[in-house]
Amino acid sequence: MINHLPDRLDLIATAEAGRVLRGTVAVASLERLLPVLNSDEGELQVEMELGKDPNGIRYLKGSIAGEVVLKCQRCLDNMSLPLDLAFRLGLVTSEVAADALPARYEPLLVTAEPAHIADIIAEEVLLAIPIVPRHSDSVACQEFIKDYKPPVSEQRESPFAVLAGLKLKQ
Ligand SMILES: [Zn+2]
Repeated sequence: MINHLPDRLDLIATAEAGRVLRGTVAVASLERLLPVLNSDEGELQVEMELGKDPNGIRYLKGSIAGEVVLKCQRCLDNMSLPLDLAFRLGLVTSEVAADALPARYEPLLVTAEPAHIADIIAEEVLLAIPIVPRHSDSVACQEFIKDYKPPVSEQRESPFAVLAGLKLKQ
């Protein structure tokens, strides 16, 4: 067990050796995730196990726990999304190998360059974020709406009122 997550990692070599890595990752360091967040505060607990299964498939199994802050699309206020994710990636070096993976693995295309751990974590969290995040009928959202006053619509004179005015002038 290694209680530290490196920034970059040679996934294939690490899977060959077999390792468990564990650590915390600052939300602010997950660049790909930041555009959909309302706050970059906090950190996530991450655990990753790299190894080779009995069929010779190199894998990365992991878990991510913590929370991220999104913007509720109903009340536009902050909305915390608790995360407790598990993922199982098959490490492949070609599209052909990705197609050949058993269904229990999601393919992760590995290049010759060491992988950015933050990018892998950001991708997994993005998959868990709803397309249109909203408070789920929570008190937070309801109270905001209670205070919300719709803008006063402009008073539009009806055509009949205009006609009545014309008649009065005659
Ligand atoms: Zn809301």
